[in-house]
Amino acid sequence: MTNKLKYFIGNWKMFGDFGSFKIINKINKFSQKSQQKFNIKTVLCVPTTLLHFFNKKIKSKYISLGAQNCHHHNEYGPFTGSVSASMIKKSGAKFIILGHSENRSGGETNQLIKKKIKSALSEKLRVIFCIGETLKEKKAGQTFSILKKQIRGSLDKKFNLESVILAYEPVWSIGTNKIPKINQLQEKIKFIKSEFKKYFNTKKVPLVLYGGSVNNKNITLFSSIPEIDGFLIGGASQSSKKFIDIIKNYYK
Ligand code: PEP
Repeated sequence: MTNKLKYFIGNWKMFGDFGSFKIINKINKFSQKSQQKFNIKTVLCVPTTLLHFFNKKIKSKYISLGAQNCHHHNEYGPFTGSVSASMIKKSGAKFIILGHSENRSGGETNQLIKKKIKSALSEKLRVIFCIGETLKEKKAGQTFSILKKQIRGSLDKKFNLESVILAYEPVWSIGTNKIPKINQLQEKIKFIKSEFKKYFNTKKVPLVLYGGSVNNKNITLFSSIPEIDGFLIGGASQSSKKFIDIIKNYYK
C-alpha cells in the first residue's frame, strides 16, 4: 500500500448542529491515533454555522475544518444571506469546497466559480474545486470536453494553483450509490492531471480527488488507482463510524 499523502475530505452538506461535535471529536481522535499508521490529511467541510464552534471546541487538531461555499465578493456588502471567504477564514476554516454540482445546478457558472476561487485564494484558503459531468453529458460523450471547460473556465494562470485541489465528482454518482468503472475513473483522473499540466504549462502535477457515493465497501476498489490523491465524501462523512471505516478499509 502506498505511503503517499492521501486526503479524506468530508462534505457534510446541509447537516449538523452543535451536538454533531461528537462526530468531529471521534474523527479527530482517530486521526490522532492513526498518525503513525497512515499518511492522511483529514478535513471536514461543515455548515458555516458550525465552523467557529467546532474550531474553538477541538482541543488539539488532527483534522482541518472547511466550508462548503462562499460569496464571490470578499468585502462586506449588500448580499443578504451570503458569507464571504474572509468571514469563513475568520471562523476557523482552512479549506473551502467550490464548484460543487449541487451549487452549479442552482445556477453557478464557471465564471462565477472563478471569482469565488479568486476570493478564497486571496484569504489563503485551500480550495477543493469540484468538476464533473452530468449523466446527459456522459451519455453524449462530452465528459472530457466538459472537464476541460470547467478547468479552463474557473482557474487562472495567475492564481496560486498550489492551493487548489481538484475533485472529480461525476454528477450522476453523487448520492446515487453509482460509481464509475475503475478503468474509466483512472482515465478521467489522468486526463485531469495532464490537461491541467498542459493548460498551465507546468510540470507540477495537481492533486485530484474522487467524489461520488464513496462508502466503506467500495473504497477498496479505489485503492487500485494510484493517481487518486484522496476522496471527497458526502453522505458517509455524516457518521464518524462510516467515515473512519472508509479510511481503515482503504489501507486494508
Ligand atoms: C459530495 O456531495 O461531494 C458527495 C461526494 O456526495 P456523496 O458521497 O454522498 O455521493
